[in-house]
Amino acid sequence: MNDPTGEAAMTHFKLLIDGALTDGARTMDVINPATGEAFETCPVADEAQLDAAVAAAVAAFPAWSALPIGERAARIAALADALQARADAFARLLTAEQGKPGNQAKMEVIGAVFTLRAFAAMRLEPHVIRDDDKARIIEVRRPLGVVGAILPWNFPVILLMNKLAPALLAGNTLVAKPAPTTPLTTLLFGTLCAEILPPGVVNIICDENDLGGALSAHPGIAKVSFTGSTATGKKVMQAAAATLKRITLELGGNDAAIILDDADPIETARKIFQGAMANAGQVCIAIKRAYVPEAIYDVFCEELARLATAAVVDDGAKQGAQIGPVQNAAQYERLKTLLDESAREGKVIAGGAALDRPGFFIAPTIVRDVTDDARIVREEQFGPVLPVLSYTDLDDAVARANASEFGLGGSVWGTDLDRATDIALRLQSGTAWVNQHMALSPTVPFRGAKQSGVGGELGLEGLHEYTQAMIVNVARG
Ligand code: NAD
Repeated sequence: MNDPTGEAAMTHFKLLIDGALTDGARTMDVINPATGEAFETCPVADEAQLDAAVAAAVAAFPAWSALPIGERAARIAALADALQARADAFARLLTAEQGKPGNQAKMEVIGAVFTLRAFAAMRLEPHVIRDDDKARIIEVRRPLGVVGAILPWNFPVILLMNKLAPALLAGNTLVAKPAPTTPLTTLLFGTLCAEILPPGVVNIICDENDLGGALSAHPGIAKVSFTGSTATGKKVMQAAAATLKRITLELGGNDAAIILDDADPIETARKIFQGAMANAGQVCIAIKRAYVPEAIYDVFCEELARLATAAVVDDGAKQGAQIGPVQNAAQYERLKTLLDESAREGKVIAGGAALDRPGFFIAPTIVRDVTDDARIVREEQFGPVLPVLSYTDLDDAVARANASEFGLGGSVWGTDLDRATDIALRLQSGTAWVNQHMALSPTVPFRGAKQSGVGGELGLEGLHEYTQAMIVNVARG
């Protein structure tokens, strides 16, 4: 986008700093992944604006944390109402910047509304540890201070709420930083925060992938809540170490689905396809490997290939699109390289290449006869690509599923629920599902095992992560 007036800093999207909707130090283009073209500009903060955002959050903390929790909950519920009232506008903007089909964008926005409401209904009650004639010992939950929220580009709306709602309810204030390629829905949400919250309680800055380190190291920030890749999560942990900040890291995954021999191959293949291809596979808890008994391997693979070939891949803004583009050029290039390798390491039975059209479209791809050491199996693809592996021995399949540095989710599929649950209990992951995958709820804790994360989000435990537990120990008699 050229700038004939020279007013590069002017854009109708604004940062939110200390309650004021503010221009950035400069602007950047935001690309629509369905076209590969810029469709908007976005304000970009410099380090001074990051400092101003943190200072505003520090200044807002005493009054916000002193409010009764019910009053904070009422503001969070008001944010939910405002987001719901504008759900269609948010969904359209989400599709434009992220790429997902309109119905999935609407589901994300409505999911975000539910998340806000679910946390607005939670409370932090004191926990009585001992209460007798010698002592009364209680544990209370205090807010931490300023929370830095750093977000990825796959679910920019709902992942923001997973952090913002518990952080605010507990009495913290917030500085949020969206991913550089999906900043606009976060900025639009900032306009609701500006109307509903006291100045400084929520601040939003955008960057060009250059302020995350400063945010993670900032002495004014008490906790960093990060969702993104494992590699960046390690940098956050390092940066946070200097001031021993609290951290929550929601990182990458390489979820395995183990299909048991009593599963219906056609019905299960359909569900596995959904679990692998939702959001064009760009889900931390997408199914990224499927282990299938040899006896049903061929029919299972054929059904997956049929579904992949039949799927409507198109601009998410078009009616009927089932799979949109991948979100950004870097991910698109990475996937093309991965697909080239896959063609050498296995048998591609559907897709296998980018679509010959503008935008970042990858054909839904199924790869069979591939070994566990292929890159497409070892690494998270984060795209519409599923490797399918066969097994003859169930213990061996479990061992192969667990042979990963990741441990986010996993699933087991079969008709004997007790047997499937026994196998699910053997998975080394934060969540194991039976006959479903990706089922999350704001009231159920979610966390990653191994290198998929530190700490967790959602549920009462997720709320507790935004607090300091404090013991009050009163002697009696
Ligand atoms: P990313 O790690 O590249 O970026 C995430 C965020 O970190 C962005 O806002 C980025 O600007 C910021 N960042 C960059 N450098 C930083 C630094 N040095 N310090 C602090 N922040 C920095 O991840 P991505 O590519 O945006 O997202 C995809 C990844 O996120 C995948 O690995 C996916 O599995 C993971 N993810 C995990 C979950 C979960 O809940 N576990 C959810 C969604 C996505």
